Amino acid sequence: MTLPIQQPAAETPLPLAGRRAHARAAWDQELRAPLGLEGAGAGIPEAWFLGPQAENLELLRELIGTAMDSHAEFRRAFHPEDPTHITPALRRSPEFQKGVDRLRTETATLLEKLQMSAPFASMRYQGHMLWDQAMPATVGLFAGLLYNQNNVAAEASPVTTRLEIEAGNDLCRMLGYAVPPDGQRPAPGQVVPWGHITSGGTVANIEALWAARNLKFAAVGLRAAIRAVPALAAARTLEVPLWGGDRGRLLELDTWTLLNLDIDVVAGLPAALAAFGITPDALTEAMVPYAVQNTGLMGFYRNFMTDVPEAPVFLAPATGHYSWPKAATLLGLGQNSLLVQRVDHDARLDLEQVETTLDILLRRRIPVLAVVAVIGSTEESAVDPLAGLLALRERFRARGINFAVHADAAWGGYFRTMLRDEHERDCRKQIPAAAMSPYVQAQYAALGQADSITVDPHKGGYIPYPAGALCYRNAAIRDAISLRAPVVFHSQAEPTVGVYGVEGSKPGAAAAAVWLAHRVIRPDRSGYGRILGQCMWTSKRMFARLCTLDDPRFAVTLFNRTPAERAHGRAEELAAERALIRRFVDLDNTALSGLLEEDAAARDLFGQLGSDQVILAFALNFRTAEGLNTDLAQVNLFNERVFSLCSMIEPRADFGGIDLMLTSSRFDPAVYGHRFVNAFCARMGVRPASDLGVDFLISTTMDPWTTETNSGDFLAVLEQALRRAAHQALDELGL
Ligand SMILES: *Cc1c(COP(=O)(O)O)cnc(C)c1O
Repeated sequence: MTLPIQQPAAETPLPLAGRRAHARAAWDQELRAPLGLEGAGAGIPEAWFLGPQAENLELLRELIGTAMDSHAEFRRAFHPEDPTHITPALRRSPEFQKGVDRLRTETATLLEKLQMSAPFASMRYQGHMLWDQAMPATVGLFAGLLYNQNNVAAEASPVTTRLEIEAGNDLCRMLGYAVPPDGQRPAPGQVVPWGHITSGGTVANIEALWAARNLKFAAVGLRAAIRAVPALAAARTLEVPLWGGDRGRLLELDTWTLLNLDIDVVAGLPAALAAFGITPDALTEAMVPYAVQNTGLMGFYRNFMTDVPEAPVFLAPATGHYSWPKAATLLGLGQNSLLVQRVDHDARLDLEQVETTLDILLRRRIPVLAVVAVIGSTEESAVDPLAGLLALRERFRARGINFAVHADAAWGGYFRTMLRDEHERDCRKQIPAAAMSPYVQAQYAALGQADSITVDPHKGGYIPYPAGALCYRNAAIRDAISLRAPVVFHSQAEPTVGVYGVEGSKPGAAAAAVWLAHRVIRPDRSGYGRILGQCMWTSKRMFARLCTLDDPRFAVTLFNRTPAERAHGRAEELAAERALIRRFVDLDNTALSGLLEEDAAARDLFGQLGSDQVILAFALNFRTAEGLNTDLAQVNLFNERVFSLCSMIEPRADFGGIDLMLTSSRFDPAVYGHRFVNAFCARMGVRPASDLGVDFLISTTMDPWTTETNSGDFLAVLEQALRRAAHQALDELGL
């Protein structure tokens, strides 16, 4: 069958090419400056989300419709003279109609099934680290999806690769890395940061450890190569700085010293060799038998590490994410190379133990790849003492042991926006927001000194999956993992970002989503900082409610202690504090804001409530005739049952019957240690059992408006829902 050749209706002929040329020139201009994303935000969060009741549906429909029209225009403008195949005649054919019918019915089936999904955008959703997606992110993802660009290679993503570079820069700045000032190219040798988008925090963490591993051994491998390879002979006189302030000839340094050089020095070795006339390509070729990424750890140790035979390790806190053991396994280090460090009673990394561990490692000459600080733990929202860790590293460097510091801010990275200056803008009204504690602020202030940072736009950035990111303090670090010759000079508009990292093909649409979200919602106090500040406020109000919840059948123990609990206050002191906290619960936002403004003591108390961010961990215990139950196994059953009533692991037909959605986890003594677990048991009033973990519930507040609905404070409804679930669980368990 031959079909007549059809021209598509060309409604907007020439101007498009002109428009494109213009946009391209403007963008080139923009990219000449270090950042494409600059300046203040505008508007209020209510304009940035679809809303729990899809209030902004018409707006979203309009934007997505525009994206589709624009994409159709794009298709038609590329060789409009080309033929078509899907003609009106063909579209009228019964076969075509059958295909369309099938498409429609199966779509309807899918939509029907999707209706049983987890309702993240609801005010009742307090489970995982997400809520409604930011509308600009949805539109960006959707628009990007229509183009289906692949950021693995610039040729498959000429536009979205640029978007990824801009988004990477913006994330670096958000996290406190110094991007060169306006319009300036970095001076030769100047350390500049670099960030890129990954599928998530797991992949970013794996990449960070991969880079740390390769860098750790790079100087040792280079020493062997310079000794043996004639092409590198010119570098025999290469000198590197040492920790005492001296310099040493790389060829003559011992293995332990080379393992513990400054990270920037190691990352800068390719550039240093270039000064001896050794090109990156020549270096890559010469290193084939000598680089750990080529030989593998076993071969490397056998050939070059005979005087330092111990296998490398890295440290992460007990709150560390599951991605760390994964990374250790994948990199051939083995899970035992992860030395899990204790956390204190606030679930923050215990630096005393880190110090003890490092002492032992130094004495036994065990190479340390990295120490991980979690900036916002997944279950408790606890922020590790990063500033203290960096100071500790300073002291250990003087003793000759060095390691990378990686900040796992997958969850917490966006909270730094609460500390970034708001540009001039008009505030419609006073919005209730809470600040992070001075301790937490100090850790965020130190973030820019971490060697690498993981951050998940798909968590604190309200951006749809998949969007994680890894940012390096020093762009040269990433060359340690590229399997190609390093690019010595990094300009802003590099051709390809896809060669770095774990992934191959990856969605340009994710870059478009992050880019558009950051363009609209700036990562400072005018944008994300404002949303997250409101969430902090809401989380503190939630804490106040849970900690004063009075029920005849059960009691709540929050993981985070109140000031009086921390001070081991007497019963009267605890009761007095409780009365003060109850006051916060009963006031509405305006009245509470007023109270906190006038009353410094109330302000101080309110500021100290809750976790470091917006996750509250808590466990319920039930009352018996003799007082609180003391059996841990029973209390675990109770909390598990409450969790099953407040979650939906399977699609549930009684979807509407879930009034509150939480998540849950367990304090396992094998990970958290007995001291930690026993202390929590004591606070719950149960006897610890050496082989039993403690199950707890988690409430994550990412909805900024829960305390500000048109029918008042919705937290009251959530409290009632929790009570009902607890009572039902007790009834079902016969307790
Ligand atoms: C969520 C999280 C990760 C893993 O990120 P994914 O995007 O889920 O892969 C790593 N570390 C921390 C602290 C996290 O909260």
